[in-house]
Amino acid sequence: MTITFRGAVLRERGLPRPYVESRPFEVVELELPAPGPGEVLVKVRAAGLCRSDLSVVTGARVWPLPMVVGHEAAGTVEAVGAGVDRVGPGDDVVLVYLPQCGTCRRCESGEPWLCKVGMAANLRGELLTGGTRLTHRGEPIHHHMGVAAFAEYALVAEPSAVPVPSGLSARDVAVFGCAVLCGAGTVLNTARVRPGESVAVVGLGAVGLAAVMGARVAGAGRIVAFDLLETKLEAASAVGATEVAVADDAAVEDLIRRTDGGVDHAVEASGTLEGFELASKLVRPGGTVTTLGLPGPGVSHALALAPLVASGLTIRGSYLGSCDVRRDLPRFVELYREGRFPADRLVTHHLGLDDLNTALDRLADGAALRQVVEF
Ligand SMILES: [Zn+2]
Ligand SMILES: [Zn+2]
Repeated sequence: MTITFRGAVLRERGLPRPYVESRPFEVVELELPAPGPGEVLVKVRAAGLCRSDLSVVTGARVWPLPMVVGHEAAGTVEAVGAGVDRVGPGDDVVLVYLPQCGTCRRCESGEPWLCKVGMAANLRGELLTGGTRLTHRGEPIHHHMGVAAFAEYALVAEPSAVPVPSGLSARDVAVFGCAVLCGAGTVLNTARVRPGESVAVVGLGAVGLAAVMGARVAGAGRIVAFDLLETKLEAASAVGATEVAVADDAAVEDLIRRTDGGVDHAVEASGTLEGFELASKLVRPGGTVTTLGLPGPGVSHALALAPLVASGLTIRGSYLGSCDVRRDLPRFVELYREGRFPADRLVTHHLGLDDLNTALDRLADGAALRQVVEF
């Protein structure tokens, strides 16, 4: 059995803007075989466009091409291969961008967000089960992070598909696969913010806003949100920031003065060196800077070692929000059902598969939070 369906393929990186003219994404007919052992065929219902997708297009991150991009989605299981027992046909699932193998050293040590086997498969543009399955008229096409969501169907390894309760809005829960796991997970799992602690979030894309939501759920006292754009500050207020500020030196000084030395936790979610430096300045002695933004390769930060020691600062990276997706994704979806994770507020645009190039321009202009393709 082979199915044929529509999907957006990226063949060339670094095409010039505007993308609506250079058209990096081309919608074509794709084929997939029936799911093999350990694989799940998913009818994609909604898929979010993330800044990491843009970095595939620009070439800031080099992935094997041609590729079907997209790593954050929700859908319904159509069929499963042999040995798949956690999901079955008709189940609603959220697709996550790191298939956690469960058996490598990191997975067995309780750090599945660093799964070596899943990361290696992702870097090859292949599934955890080995190789690619997507084709366009017989030509092999790579899978972005084991998901390849900008298509009507996705064939994934079982760990990439996490079941969620049926009947939820796919357009809302799609963003849990990347934005919510990364943002909220960073606050709740990596930084482990405790009730009453103060948190600053720098960079208010969908991931930064999800970090604000996470801080709210953690019971943080002061939640200060920084960005350069007024619209993003408004969005942060709407999801639980207690204060917002345009990110500049004056705002940093003001916050340090008002908090008697800085906040307990700063979360860097802008993916820029400037954002990281700002976050580092905002933290009190003994506090924690947690960075989840992904600047381009080669971006580095010089660290003065004596002040690091004297300030007792902790600097941590956070990948996938330090999430064990089978534990955390259902937990976060439950918070959404309780109205405590207003994920719909992360989404500014709903679009069709053919609108992706326009959406890329909007994303590059900073004129959107999450844009969700609906099928
Ligand atoms: Zn993402
Ligand atoms: Zn693993």
